[in-house]
Amino acid sequence: MPTGRYAPSPTGTLHLGNLRTALLAWLFARSTGSRLRMRVEDVDTGRSREHFVAEQLADLAAIGLDWHGEVVRQSERGELYAAALAALEEQGLVYPCWCTRAEIREAAAAPHGELPEGAYPGTCRELSAAQRREREASGRPAALRVRAGAAEVGVTDRVLGDVRSVVDDFVLRRSDGDWAYILAVVVDDHEQGVEEVVRGADLLETTPRQAWLHRTLGYGEPPAYAHVPLMLGADGARLAKRHGAVTLADRAAQGQSADDVRAELAASVGLCRPNERPAAAELIARFAVDGLDASPVSG
Ligand code: GLU
Repeated sequence: MPTGRYAPSPTGTLHLGNLRTALLAWLFARSTGSRLRMRVEDVDTGRSREHFVAEQLADLAAIGLDWHGEVVRQSERGELYAAALAALEEQGLVYPCWCTRAEIREAAAAPHGELPEGAYPGTCRELSAAQRREREASGRPAALRVRAGAAEVGVTDRVLGDVRSVVDDFVLRRSDGDWAYILAVVVDDHEQGVEEVVRGADLLETTPRQAWLHRTLGYGEPPAYAHVPLMLGADGARLAKRHGAVTLADRAAQGQSADDVRAELAASVGLCRPNERPAAAELIARFAVDGLDASPVSG
């Protein structure tokens, strides 16, 4: 059976924009007979908090979403990520990088051919043995990067159309030992048989890197991608806590139920009128993947 997924990071309470993306991932899956898997992306140990895991899952269930099988947690899947790293090492594609963020910013400010803005400029890629020894001796821990060879990769997104960019040498494992998001997400989507990725449009720019990694790991063709429009606050910036009552708990404090919030989100996708309160299952029948508007919505 085809498989989609929703993959929240437990670094905060889900806000209406996150809940809207989750609702859309669920609707994409359910309206096409796919199952939806739930994956907790808790690889960033510094920012993930255990209490957000249960809280996020409870909020998703409260607006009527459900998922197939056990919730998968990235923090329990280090062996899979290590195996993927080893496979890349075997291909000679991994190298240590000692650059700090500030160093990368500075080096990236100089023109670097076709690399996109903010891309890694390749400082540590071709270090001599002596330079490498010197950096090792500094005791500063190294991140691990992949040698992507400035591959140009295009992806056709189901909502936003074609995106194409040059893939830089991105991080696979951070200098603090945490697995990098891109490695974990590509390994998990493959391991879980995910064929359809529905997520926020803010992640579109990482997609060519993920598609490249997917193929480089020998996983075959990457999943289909649908990046759904973000919800913006009144000031036009991406929705955040500072925009006011943006979580289910905030809305409950104002007397709104989870059903009210689901209806509001459904209305923002054009699936119901303002005064309706359709059940989640009712929305499945009304949803058409191709009818989704690609522009951001106000929260
Ligand atoms: N965990 C990521 C986030 O919450 C989403 C990753 C994905 O859907 O690929 O932003």
